[in-house]
Amino acid sequence: MSSSGPLSPSPPAPSPDVLIVGGGVAGLALAICLRRLHIPCRVFEAYPHLSETAGACLQIAPNGINVLSALGLKDEFVRRGKKCLQFRFCTHRDEHVAEVPIDGDKHFGADAIMAGRYQLHTMLARTLEADGLAIEYGRRLRALEQHADGVTLTFEDGSSATGAIVVGCDGLHSTTRQLLFPAVPKPDFLGYIGLGGVVPLSTLTPEQVALTRIDQGTMTAMRGLVGVWYIAETGPSATGERQLFVWTNFPLPLDMCNKARTEMTPEQICKEILEPLFGDWADPLPTLMRAVCREGLVRQPIQGLGAELPHWSVERTLLIGDAAHATGPAGEGASVALEDAQYLARLLKDVYSVKPGDATVTAPSSAAITAMFAQYDAHRRPRVVAINNESRERCEEKRRVYTPWSAWMHNRMMSVILSVLVWWTGGVIGAEENAYKIPGYDTMFS
Ligand SMILES: Cc1cc2nc3c(=O)[nH]c(=O)nc-3n(C[C@H](O)[C@H](O)[C@H](O)COP(=O)(O)OP(=O)(O)OC[C@H]3O[C@@H](n4cnc5c(N)ncnc54)[C@H](O)[C@@H]3O)c2cc1C
Repeated sequence: MSSSGPLSPSPPAPSPDVLIVGGGVAGLALAICLRRLHIPCRVFEAYPHLSETAGACLQIAPNGINVLSALGLKDEFVRRGKKCLQFRFCTHRDEHVAEVPIDGDKHFGADAIMAGRYQLHTMLARTLEADGLAIEYGRRLRALEQHADGVTLTFEDGSSATGAIVVGCDGLHSTTRQLLFPAVPKPDFLGYIGLGGVVPLSTLTPEQVALTRIDQGTMTAMRGLVGVWYIAETGPSATGERQLFVWTNFPLPLDMCNKARTEMTPEQICKEILEPLFGDWADPLPTLMRAVCREGLVRQPIQGLGAELPHWSVERTLLIGDAAHATGPAGEGASVALEDAQYLARLLKDVYSVKPGDATVTAPSSAAITAMFAQYDAHRRPRVVAINNESRERCEEKRRVYTPWSAWMHNRMMSVILSVLVWWTGGVIGAEENAYKIPGYDTMFS
């Protein structure tokens, strides 16, 4: 072969990277899975650095703990949190309504765990870094361009990145979602606020501690005519001190929610909003309410997507976690995000089929990606829709206002229904939600 001039450079091989937008629960879990499957990936997170204190608490349900277990992180998370062994429902006068035991370890393979949100984030971020991947902080997605053989992301700092596949894990207010589906309405305000945080157990007298029943692993939900308060033990503080998670949801107009979030001090919120509504509730609620306002109050007007997206993917880009299907917090969002990540990783394993030590990794074809995204949607959608339907009901309940008569009826019905359910199922309530494991979850990294 002869050539009279310099050879023109061949076009660069398309990058095989999976580009993950958002280093939250779904994004970090997905990246850990992909590193273990030797699939090249990058994580772009809008925040400038890892926050090791931000947010209140999360309860991770047994199905979410099962994902952490597959990643070898269950024991560490259990150490960082506290097991939740029963739910107790009572009135604002502390009158018993119902008790539901949840022997998660026996029936679902894991107990539900209550922990600081930062504990989950820190654990996942540190694991990823130990596995050799640096999270790219300070890179907020601005634009996304899909080509025949790849996708280019542009960030607010002007930098860009190209890969074979993009996974939008950027949460409720997802930019990826807005770029893929500009006609989809932004998340709606759901009509209620979430307020609360963490207080040291030493805030309470031994008699008050006994009232909370935390030593039996109880999460208490106290309900009045307006509002519900949740009290449970969460993981220990950095200095090893026992702590309580204290959180309320109650209906509040959006302008008041915004005022509480941005203008009012915790002392004002306590005096002007919380005291009139909850100041006369049964002991130890008022003590805890005042303590949480002193210790650091998280305030969150609650939002969610009004309806399911008809598709979660366009060409080479897929949404998972809250970016795809946030309906409002109801105790399952993070667990479902973990499931999404693990299931997607399992499918990516097949389309990349990388062996340990492979020197070069080729990007999957567009046809393979389209087929994989269709499989992802077909498998995940029925479960996500079922959980979302239940979440919507729970969110509806949080903003409901009762009269004394309707509250009495509601409590009687709950008491009867839950007692019958506990008896009928032998205490195994919510098996479909809680016992779920991704098919092949325990062998996918072997
Ligand atoms: C008040 C409240 C209480 C909750 N309690 C529970 C609970 O007890 N149990 C439970 O299971 N779930 C709970 N949830 C829901 C749970 O927090 C979410 O479902 C879960 O965090 C979803 O994970 P995700 O990774 O999809 O999104 P997120 O965890 O929100 O992560 C999204 C990430 O993307 C980043 N990001 C955003 N935009 C961009 C961008 N443009 N470019 C780059 N990065 C970006 C964000 O900074 C963030 O790190 C609660 C939610 C709320 C609001």
